[in-house]
Amino acid sequence: MNLFDFTEIPADGERWVRFAKDFLQHFGFYIETPPYRDAENVFDFCAVEQVSGKFNYHPFRWLVSCRHKAATRTAVKESEEADILERLLRSRADGFLGFYSTPVSPALEFYLSEIKSRFQIKDYRILDAKFLETHLATPAFARIALRYFPNYAQTHQILHLVEDKYLPILCEHCRKDLLKTLFTEDQQGVVVRLRRRKDVPDGAEIIANIYVACKGDCDVELQAKYCNGTNLNAVSWTDLSDLVLSPVFLDWTLSLVKQIGTDEVTYTTSALEKELYLLKAFAQYTLREPTDRITPSTQNIMFHK
Ligand SMILES: [Zn+2]
Repeated sequence: MNLFDFTEIPADGERWVRFAKDFLQHFGFYIETPPYRDAENVFDFCAVEQVSGKFNYHPFRWLVSCRHKAATRTAVKESEEADILERLLRSRADGFLGFYSTPVSPALEFYLSEIKSRFQIKDYRILDAKFLETHLATPAFARIALRYFPNYAQTHQILHLVEDKYLPILCEHCRKDLLKTLFTEDQQGVVVRLRRRKDVPDGAEIIANIYVACKGDCDVELQAKYCNGTNLNAVSWTDLSDLVLSPVFLDWTLSLVKQIGTDEVTYTTSALEKELYLLKAFAQYTLREPTDRITPSTQNIMFHK
């Protein structure tokens, strides 16, 4: 059985296109609207990536064609992708990218490989349901998965308890739970470290405190509270949305271990305790097992207890 039910996205097309844009943007593409509109391919858009080599650094423009046929469970046929070369030319695109909720038909795939081998297009790719699922199931794509597949959020584990109860990550100023808002908002919060100014030039750096805040006003208020008229400086801001990505989370953990093993940096006991709490709280998101099914009542316990 598939992890995601693509029929959760309505068949009329517009939401599927929004999903495609969000997905590709999250994947690292820059989204552009093509300079033409035609009645048949009203939903075409371009996704641009930078290609960098030893001598080359240039944008590669993909024409994204969205086809959402999950409700009929039929492959995308050649006849449903008319005038591919014309559309590429008009949108000044280098390659063709099919964003499909079902597989591509063999005839269409053959046609795409033919025009590629004749150098009429530089490349083509098909992102089908299988490809999309592989990414949607990872923590990095959790926010998009939850936004477009609400039933998935009800039946699958989106956070993994590491202790008996859910560990929130609260903004120290307004008390908003910033771990929860990672699933719903774009700009969330930051973790800020506060360093004590050295008494002697070659003394150890002391991390005296750490706070978590919403970006903007809450951060400014807390900086003033901790740093004005004291010997503390705010020295590092790390985005919460970065920290939940597995490689960044691992880096953060390893650098903490390295730092406390040297004479150059020391932590006060309270700062270290806060940092260890944050590691545990982030682990609920980063180390979750995405395929675990969960009952709605358990989901409620995690979020509302
Ligand atoms: Zn706040």
